[in-house]
Amino acid sequence: KPLVVAIDGPSGSGKSSISREVARRLHAAYLDTGAMYRAVTLSCMEAGIDLTDSVAVEAAAENADIALSLSPDEEWVRVSGRDVTDAIREPVVSSSVSAVATTLGARAELVRRQQQLIRDSGLRIVAEGRDITTVVAPHAEVRILLTASEEARLRRRGIQLGGTQTAAALKEQVLVRDAKDSTVVDFQQAADGVVTIDSSDLDFEETVSAVLEVVFT
Ligand code: C5P
Repeated sequence: KPLVVAIDGPSGSGKSSISREVARRLHAAYLDTGAMYRAVTLSCMEAGIDLTDSVAVEAAAENADIALSLSPDEEWVRVSGRDVTDAIREPVVSSSVSAVATTLGARAELVRRQQQLIRDSGLRIVAEGRDITTVVAPHAEVRILLTASEEARLRRRGIQLGGTQTAAALKEQVLVRDAKDSTVVDFQQAADGVVTIDSSDLDFEETVSAVLEVVFT
């Protein structure tokens, strides 16, 4: 029977690594929707598209040839056949991605594609992002908002980036981005029927267990 697990949360909440591991344990597919917004952003930047030009950004999203791994054991993203797995994680993409995410036409296109990918998975998938519980898969069997305190999120993202970022740069990447993203999607508060898991005081394994507990109850 279908098992779609929708997980939303702010940046640095540990969403991606937790969702990936939960997918492994469930023998389910894994969809990182943020990677798709990042891929469109990189395409726009490389094509010299003005990210404030919503018509051009929407067209870029519609025309982007994006392929991404749906396996939790393999991480790759390709744009027009080129591997961009690492390029889409660069700080320059992180700091520009909200411009694409707040372009409503681009969102509509990516939401459509995400819903298709979820159907293609045979409805056995863990999908994570900002609007999965509310827009992409509001009827998912399991809907979770994964939160963490600001302090925990800054710490985790700092570790993830290998301690190479200054405190100010980290704040820019985590808090400023969340504030921008929040203007179009509300992932700070759980929608009706969405279970909140606060991972501030949980380690990785405890957070995975907390998610699996929601799945199995
Ligand atoms: O999850 P990640 O931090 O990689 O997401 C990158 C960006 O993609 C977010 O900051 C947000 O702008 C956008 N995003 C979104 N909706 C989603 C997933 C990501 O707007 N479902």
